[in-house]
Amino acid sequence: MKTIYLDYAAATRVDKKVMKAMEPYFTEQFYNPSALYLAGRRAKNDLDQARSAAAACLGARPAEIIFTSGATESNNLAISGVMSNFPGAELLVSAIEHKSVLEPAIQLGAKQIQVNKYGLVEIDKLKSLITAKSVLISIGLVNNEISTLQPIKDISILIEQINKARRVSGNKLPLYLHSDVAQAGNCFDLHVSRLGVDLMTLNGGKIYGPKNSGLLYNKAGVKLSPMILGGGQEMGLRSGTESLASAVGLSAALKLAQSQKNSQLNHLNTLKSLFIKELNDKIPRVQINSPIKHSSPHIVSVTFIGSDNERLMMELDEQGVMVATGSACSAAKGEPSHVLKAIGLSDEMARSTLRFSFGRQSSAKEIKKVAGLLGQLIH
Ligand code: PLP
Repeated sequence: MKTIYLDYAAATRVDKKVMKAMEPYFTEQFYNPSALYLAGRRAKNDLDQARSAAAACLGARPAEIIFTSGATESNNLAISGVMSNFPGAELLVSAIEHKSVLEPAIQLGAKQIQVNKYGLVEIDKLKSLITAKSVLISIGLVNNEISTLQPIKDISILIEQINKARRVSGNKLPLYLHSDVAQAGNCFDLHVSRLGVDLMTLNGGKIYGPKNSGLLYNKAGVKLSPMILGGGQEMGLRSGTESLASAVGLSAALKLAQSQKNSQLNHLNTLKSLFIKELNDKIPRVQINSPIKHSSPHIVSVTFIGSDNERLMMELDEQGVMVATGSACSAAKGEPSHVLKAIGLSDEMARSTLRFSFGRQSSAKEIKKVAGLLGQLIH
């Protein structure tokens, strides 16, 4: 049976060029970059090159890039690594963050920023929550369940104004902005100063690179403490033998993804519009939860009113169509999604919702086929 994969927000196929770039580091070039003999020094040089290449894609300095095991680790490092330097200071996170931001944030007593019905953080609401003790704000660029694209640049301008006012008033506490951009790399510019971020999380698994690869951008001067202690690799901020294959794969994937972002944006916008039109034509009781504006086109969250999302997902699976009931982590726990609840869906509506996500290999033919199948499955 020919399968149709519509879960690109969960995992992407490793690009052949990325695979080729990584391959030598599993075999002939397996050496430890910390080893002092020539082969080790060569490995260190290749690691530095991967770091420089990733930094160049992001408009960052190489020393500001910390390679990690993925976005979960980068998010934990950003949140806990900053907050541990400022005892008693406040942390703010949006209520629709990925659990790898929310969970450490909740443990640290973070304030949650409620979003509007489109999943957007409103600047005035954010402003009203910031106090003289706030030190870190974490807001993801693209939401992984409903696709909302946050106004990060506008938020960074607000933060800059607050930092200026603090300097004038003698408040020495900095205010930093962290953004998880794990879902944004295929369609949007990730240049750190254009976004205005101080810390930024990225992973390889969503941009046609290897899973378990990631990085944290940590702007020079931001106070960050390591969470994983040991041999002092990654400028002392992330101990453990470096995975050169992962770093090289992530860098290669990032370069490729950023070079194709405009054509991908067009390709995915076409698919998104087509999918929404087909669903509205074929299914009477359907609600699109993803905003049309201010969103990434690769994710469409759809509520099939009166249907059970798990049953629908299984029925599609039987027909060779792979979709998600939400983010992979909350889906596995069977809990109604905190993101859908935050934008005002009831538990019942959340349990009738599927997430469709598209990517480089998706086609109009597949989209039409899936919409047609849904039309048959839902009466
Ligand atoms: N952040 C976002 C927005 C994600 O979509 C994901 C993956 O689902 C993660 C973090 C976690 O990424 P990783 O699996 O690389 O730890």
